Amino acid sequence: MKESTITYNNKKIRIITAPAAVVGSGAAGFCAALRLHEYGVKDALLVTDGMKRGTSRNTGSDKQTYYKMNISGNAADCPAEMAKDFFSGGCVDGDNAYAEAANSLKCFLKLCELGVPFPTNRLGEYIGYQTDHDTRARATSAGPLTSKFMTEALEAAVLKENIDILDGSLVVSIIKAGEKVCGLLALDTRSLDKEFILIKTNNVVWATGGPAGMYADSVYPVSQCGMSGAAFEAGAEGKNLTEWQYGLASVNPRWNVSGTYMQVIPRFVSVDSEGKEYEFLAEHFGSDIKRALSLVFRKGYQWPFDCKKALTGSSLIDLLVYREKVLRGRKVYLDFRKNPFGIESFSASILDDEGRDYLVSAKADFGTPIERLRHMNDPAYQLYLEKGVDLEKEMLEISLSAQHNNGGIDVDLWWQTSVPGLFAAGEVAGTHGIVRPGGSALNAGQVGGTRAAQYIARRGDFTEPGDEEFLSAAEKHIEKFSELCEAITSKGESNIRSLRAEITDRMSMSGAAIRNAEKIKVTLSSAKETLVKFGEIASAEKNELADALRLRDTLACQVVYLSSMLDYIEKGGKSRGSSLYTSENGTAPEGLGDVFAFELDEDLIGDRVQTVKLDPDTLEVICGERNVRPLPEGGGFFENEWKRYREDGNVY
Ligand SMILES: Cc1cc2nc3c(=O)[nH]c(=O)nc-3n(C[C@H](O)[C@H](O)[C@H](O)COP(=O)(O)OP(=O)(O)OC[C@H]3O[C@@H](n4cnc5c(N)ncnc54)[C@H](O)[C@@H]3O)c2cc1C
Repeated sequence: MKESTITYNNKKIRIITAPAAVVGSGAAGFCAALRLHEYGVKDALLVTDGMKRGTSRNTGSDKQTYYKMNISGNAADCPAEMAKDFFSGGCVDGDNAYAEAANSLKCFLKLCELGVPFPTNRLGEYIGYQTDHDTRARATSAGPLTSKFMTEALEAAVLKENIDILDGSLVVSIIKAGEKVCGLLALDTRSLDKEFILIKTNNVVWATGGPAGMYADSVYPVSQCGMSGAAFEAGAEGKNLTEWQYGLASVNPRWNVSGTYMQVIPRFVSVDSEGKEYEFLAEHFGSDIKRALSLVFRKGYQWPFDCKKALTGSSLIDLLVYREKVLRGRKVYLDFRKNPFGIESFSASILDDEGRDYLVSAKADFGTPIERLRHMNDPAYQLYLEKGVDLEKEMLEISLSAQHNNGGIDVDLWWQTSVPGLFAAGEVAGTHGIVRPGGSALNAGQVGGTRAAQYIARRGDFTEPGDEEFLSAAEKHIEKFSELCEAITSKGESNIRSLRAEITDRMSMSGAAIRNAEKIKVTLSSAKETLVKFGEIASAEKNELADALRLRDTLACQVVYLSSMLDYIEKGGKSRGSSLYTSENGTAPEGLGDVFAFELDEDLIGDRVQTVKLDPDTLEVICGERNVRPLPEGGGFFENEWKRYREDGNVY
């Protein structure tokens, strides 16, 4: 690591020079850093605000899925078929889809070699199962903590190679010389005085994860906030920002309540501010117990909220939870201690054939939800117990929560953004569309990190700008953030927590699974105002500066994301994927009244993507539209492709 210091306004600032820098220590960031090293960029630097922070390291689900090409038995699979499945998610660029398919095995087998315990059969085959939007049983899993195992294995490899790591450094701004990246500005969160550090580099892989910090109702781990705002402020274009995944999750700990948690048919309860309890499914479905409970059962494997299932299908349950919490201001819980609808003696015959057969086969046609849960899947009970919640004794608070951003920063075939020298990999990059196969996010992060590293190693700009040239580009960033930090820390009592709660609550109420143009306008305008006056409004102790700057980034993200949602509505966009746009002309889901009326985007405008660019000075967001890049043919004549490959750089 090459280091120097400069003095700026009587303060010493460290400058670290590196041929390339990766920002983020999630599965995608570690992968990119390791690949850079393997491909010959030996002095690349990994910058992170905390080695163990982020989604990959701290999240999971009952069977956390990794999506890869099927290489078991007599499965007929190939890049072209896999790419077709990615592409069919709608609004997906064909070259990204193809590259994610073509590089799937390389990335998956690398993880296996590094020690991620993906299971094999006795013959050594990596057997697969079918996940959602999957045609060829491509899914695999190392258990509930697949992504954690991935980060651990990748981190060990990064440490083994002695790759330089700058830990405890929150990157707050991307510095450009003209149109190109030339460095980063980071807050040294571990220094007593919270000093800034400059990183001089022309090649940056932005692997900061999804912009999780935008939502109050969220199943992202608390340590994941994201920093997409800084990339937008640097001029990177966004794509498909409207496309998310939302679903039912517990609030504390944050965990998806999918699979067995639903299949054991818990009781859904809401509690108002006076402590009065409501069994709201019973209120809604009345005597139609079979339908209500069969929909709950189905939520087990239909986890994400899906507009197509919102009129009469299992997503009605998500809407009912949302209504209790957001519209009626109550807390919502799952109660595993008692059967729903006052059932005293449970029999699976109360469910439709599917649910009944399942529970009978699992020999769980008896007792209370907790008894069925412990019988069918005791680890699912233990999981909460280890996190301090005993489902035998207490109810579990839940909400309809943000889980994954399918869109993000727009990238090309090599995961380079619209800003030369700035690459995006992992969830921050928007390579998915309206829907995606389960597990494809983890595949995309590995492929993105690999592709970006390959390109940088071959085509990166490794000329080192002189100190003077670099400082003149960096100066305005140092000045802006120094002044902001000064203003934030000069007031006394901190309000960062309450400000975050207020800002993220507004987003969850207007720009989450249920979106309404009027509410979005109000939230957008207050996000803009708070961002503009952030230095005046925000107040923090020095040791909270990092949180304050994360909050500032969250606001910038909200401005961009809410603008994209508003533009989508104004251009006639309708409900699709996990996002329901309310519409006066729409149909109301069964028994829910006009407040949830919506129109389904029947023909999915899957061949067009929305693009988004922020003007950081005016906070105006320019939204455009373009055709998706088509699916490439792939394959080729060996001698010709070999020649192209040999003649250095021709595949890049
Ligand atoms: C509950 C849940 C279940 C999921 N299940 C699945 C599944 O089954 N299959 C699947 O494919 N996907 C799943 N996902 C999604 C998947 O886990 C994530 O998309 C993926 O882990 C993101 O990896 P990443 O490396 O891009 O980002 P992250 O793992 O979030 O890492 C981001 C990193 O960037 C760092 N960082 C952020 N900002 C800065 C900054 N300014 N400066 C320095 N460092 C910074 C963070 O500290 C962190 O280290 C799930 C997600 C959730 C929440």
